[in-house]
Amino acid sequence: MFNSLDIGTGSTLNIINDDGILLAQKPYLQNDSIGKSFASRPNVMRILREGNGSFDSVSSMDHHQRLYTFSRVGNLPLTVIVALSGNEVFAAWKRTAIVISGATGVLCIGLLWLTWLLCRELRLRHSAEKELALLAATDAVAGVANRRTLDQTLRHEWFRAQRSGKPPSMLMIDADHFKAFNDRHGHQGGDDALRAVAKVICANVRRPTDLVARYGGEECSVILAETDRMGAQQIAENIRAAVEQLPSMAGDKTPITVSIGIATWTAASETSLESLLFAADKALYQAKESGRNRVVAAD
Ligand code: GH3
Ligand code: MG
Ligand code: MG
Repeated sequence: MFNSLDIGTGSTLNIINDDGILLAQKPYLQNDSIGKSFASRPNVMRILREGNGSFDSVSSMDHHQRLYTFSRVGNLPLTVIVALSGNEVFAAWKRTAIVISGATGVLCIGLLWLTWLLCRELRLRHSAEKELALLAATDAVAGVANRRTLDQTLRHEWFRAQRSGKPPSMLMIDADHFKAFNDRHGHQGGDDALRAVAKVICANVRRPTDLVARYGGEECSVILAETDRMGAQQIAENIRAAVEQLPSMAGDKTPITVSIGIATWTAASETSLESLLFAADKALYQAKESGRNRVVAAD
């Protein structure tokens, strides 16, 4: 009957009697083991003690891991032991485990790849948004802040000054006789001159809280945070002199000059933001009227 059963390699079928003597075994683990007593072996001791059951243990014959399942045969003094090889029992499970862990590994790699792609897209989007924000705040011709940024910063500095009581100043800078310059050199030459003037203004305004912006046309504004009238006058004079020193553009004999109007807010003056702008504008027109290429500070 044992010979007609196929339980795979590494597994054994055994019959022992109540004295622990091995009566039959398939396949034989040792040639001379039939008829021998194994009653002193721990596995056999446990089988004889428990009668029916199963446990996982190492064979004392060939030292292989096996799953022992055993049962007494009716009322006879015999016990049948099926000792299945651990490798064979777990072979199917191992195959499935390898397939599942392989699939899980591929899935994890896929997820990591998708995460990397997502991070890259987010980084690209972040830098594109930063670039767009910069473009939205910059004047395309002069390369300085645009009117929108100027209005925002003015309001911000205005409220800051109200709290701190420290005066902000504003410069209104207008290129002199720029229409004539444009007529002589065309709009392209005029744009180049505007860029050069804006560059000079930026070079003379160095504090991080200050802002140079294009107000409109050939006019630029400078917001000087926490700068009193004297300080603003000094900076305006530096700008005026530096523009005058610019090398002649396109062989023009007349140097480019600017007129600058200054307005400074003080706690005592209690003016509004609009009146500060108005005062700077008025000072600029005074500078124009009194001969151009000069700086005038509002009273
Ligand atoms: P003033 O000394 O009184 O300021 O004389 P002006 O000729 O500069 O003043 P006006 O306001 O009569 O003319 C400003 C000119 O600036 C008009 C236009 O030809 C020129 N302009 C304004 N915006 C731009 C610009 O973006 N690019 C160029 N190339 N020229 C501009
Ligand atoms: Mg002008
Ligand atoms: Mg003008």
